[in-house]
Amino acid sequence: ARVIANRYRVVRKIGSGNFGVVFLVNDLNTEELKVLKEIDIGNLQPDETIDAAKEANLLSSLNHPHIVRFYESFVSDGSFCIVTEYCEGGDLDEKIKSIRKSSTTLDETLIVTWFIQLLSAVQYIHKRRILHRDLKARNIFLRNNVIKVGDFGISRVLSGTSDFATTFAGTPYYMSPEVLDHNAYNSKSDVWALACILYELCCLRHAFEGQNLLNVMRAILEGEIPELPSIYHTELRRVYLGMLQRDPKQRFSISEVLQNPFICYHARV
Ligand code: ADP
Ligand code: MG
Repeated sequence: ARVIANRYRVVRKIGSGNFGVVFLVNDLNTEELKVLKEIDIGNLQPDETIDAAKEANLLSSLNHPHIVRFYESFVSDGSFCIVTEYCEGGDLDEKIKSIRKSSTTLDETLIVTWFIQLLSAVQYIHKRRILHRDLKARNIFLRNNVIKVGDFGISRVLSGTSDFATTFAGTPYYMSPEVLDHNAYNSKSDVWALACILYELCCLRHAFEGQNLLNVMRAILEGEIPELPSIYHTELRRVYLGMLQRDPKQRFSISEVLQNPFICYHARV
């Protein structure tokens, strides 16, 4: 079997993403299963590679129970490799699709538990003045039924200069109105995305949908803000709406969400 950088034996290919191939690997030093992303840097400029390495250093300093652990990154055989924690439960997008297929729903208690885990992970990075920038169900993983936010800044690491172009290369569903309006991505843009994810956990479909990119953008910019069904707790629905204020100044910050009594109560138990 193939061994990368003399240390990671490829067990199997997990998938391929926007940026490269993802492998499940066995770390020969520790015998742990890890995930290795291999990205072709053929197109990167040398200074972009240095930026990517710097960014990777920052990511390796993050240590939180609900953030996918980032172990190391290196260049091997002309590829930029990123080694992270393996989340055997897969991602939330897959999870949501399979629950929808089985015609069941997620329990409110579980939704609130996962939501609080998401909030605590994002609060942790926001306190360090780091933005995720790509929060979406596909970038949130499960390990032992616990949330692990992943793909931190990977898009930033690899996007090079044109932030806006890479934004549009991804899925539009979680984009905030200000980002669509060509304004700077800020911490409140992460909050918007989290609300979209909460909606998905509750309703098993995207908060803002459309036949094509333009229609999704319209829904985000001027459509009716979809409410959470009335079966959910009033406070949860209130918090959710506060996170989907189109004006980032009016929108809750993560800390404000975590100060809500209902959220506070569930965060303690
Ligand atoms: P994208 O985010 O564009 O879907 P990724 O490269 O992030 O692409 O992921 C590709 C595939 O690998 C996805 O199916 C994803 O669920 C899976 N994957 C990525 N990281 C992990 C991880 N840490 N643990 C388990 N599966 C992962
Ligand atoms: Mg991803």
